[in-house]
Amino acid sequence: MSSHAYCDWNATAELRPEAKAAVMAALEVTGNPSSVHAAGRAARRLVEEARERVAALVGVAPREVVFTSGGTEANALALSPALGDTLLISTIEHPSVRSLGRFADATDVPVTAAGLADLAALERLVKDSDRPLVSLMLANNETGVIQPVSEAAALVHDAGGCLHIDAVQGPGRIACDFKALGADLMTLSAHKIGGPHGVGALIVRDGLVLDALIKGGGQERGARAGTENVAGIAGFGAAAEAVRLHWAAEAARIEALRAELETGIKASAPKAVIWGAEVPRLPNTTLFTVPGMKAETAVIAFDLEGVAVSSGAACSSGKVAPSHVLAAMGVNPELARGAIRVSLGYATTNEDVGIVLKAWEKLAKRLYKAGNQQEIAA
Ligand code: PLP
Repeated sequence: MSSHAYCDWNATAELRPEAKAAVMAALEVTGNPSSVHAAGRAARRLVEEARERVAALVGVAPREVVFTSGGTEANALALSPALGDTLLISTIEHPSVRSLGRFADATDVPVTAAGLADLAALERLVKDSDRPLVSLMLANNETGVIQPVSEAAALVHDAGGCLHIDAVQGPGRIACDFKALGADLMTLSAHKIGGPHGVGALIVRDGLVLDALIKGGGQERGARAGTENVAGIAGFGAAAEAVRLHWAAEAARIEALRAELETGIKASAPKAVIWGAEVPRLPNTTLFTVPGMKAETAVIAFDLEGVAVSSGAACSSGKVAPSHVLAAMGVNPELARGAIRVSLGYATTNEDVGIVLKAWEKLAKRLYKAGNQQEIAA
């Protein structure tokens, strides 16, 4: 009998049963949410109920939620020249932010060797900028390092600027209160929290007016045209509700499993490097390597053992280029090339961790035999 362990939750989370049920139920509803008849109103109700649930997850008013096709579109929508004259983004942002939305260029905010946005540099940069729009992620998808966004918000607001937070990796793992974090805009994605793929939201603080990326009908109060993805949105709402109710207990349980995982990784390879371990990190993420390891080979070796992990970011898997996140942190490219990300979620079990560690023990032994023994075992 083969055993499997899905440990790539930062790429996508397992669909929550509540979300699946909400998607299936919504697929039975025929109306267009913009239609005035009863069928249309039934579809509208699903969308508005989901809006309330997503709003409650991050502590905003439902009218501040703009549904999109996912985190990527929400990031593109947020990077709107209507919101600022100068764009500042950190060097470790997701490619959907690094591609700058509708800006032609941006100024980089550097990160420290630990993978934290450099606040002293940010302070200088916002002071030197006209109407800065700053985009920072709440937590990095590769390292899991939690960014100092509320401190950044104070600096940005003192300089008369606007702060967008890409919070895609946050909900379910850490507190994500929009106002407490000091956000003006915030990106969310359903499939990272146990909802379906292809749906997300941009939270837009009351009073902010951005120019729509997709124009047409007046859906989403003019901020995002197109007939709503009713089933996807309903599933997102159900996942948001489940996260709001259960995240604190889930996160504590996951953190204990992660500790067990990291102890086991080190036991088989004492020279393993775990990035971000010395600063606040998401409770579910481990990014590690041992000198001499190649991530592409390791991902395949894990896969053959039934373990799904990734080499750095899923979006860049398939490409052999080392992670831009580790490069920004100044990690030696050879070491960065070996980075494996194991990310856990609400359905991860003790057994899953056991399966990962068994596969890792085998792989570490093979690496040891292949001649990297000094590095791995020293
Ligand atoms: N932002 C971050 C930090 C992410 O990790 C991801 C997905 O990997 C995205 C944005 C994009 O979200 P989506 O997959 O919903 O387009």
